[in-house]
Amino acid sequence: MDCLFCKIMAGEIPCTKVYEDEWVFAFRDINPQAPVHVLVMPKAHMSDIMACDGETMAHLLDAIQTIAKQEGVDKDGFRIVSNCGKNGAQSVGHLHIHLLGGRQLADSMA
Ligand code: AMP
Repeated sequence: MDCLFCKIMAGEIPCTKVYEDEWVFAFRDINPQAPVHVLVMPKAHMSDIMACDGETMAHLLDAIQTIAKQEGVDKDGFRIVSNCGKNGAQSVGHLHIHLLGGRQLADSMA
């Protein structure tokens, strides 16, 4: 499948991995928008949040909590965002959740 994030997971394209388990893979964003900017994605290819099921989302949530502690942003807080589709400005068609933290983030969401 011609999917950038599947290729990253397969090791065909380098990344800085921060977390992996049976269901989830997470790595640093190549163009970080905050001191901590991690992309958390399901190993199974699915296009976006509309294609996601509850079990997969539960695994993503567990991983996000673990990564937040690992990255040291659990105490001061962080933001998660998942862009979906054209109006959501999604640029890579494999579901991923941005985890942003390490500084005071802007109030604005859009
Ligand atoms: P989105 O626009 O929500 O689909 O987010 C895609 C994210 O993937 C962007 O924040 C990009 O900076 C990031 N990205 C694109 N290519 C790579 C890559 N090779 N390694 C790490 N992050 C990437």
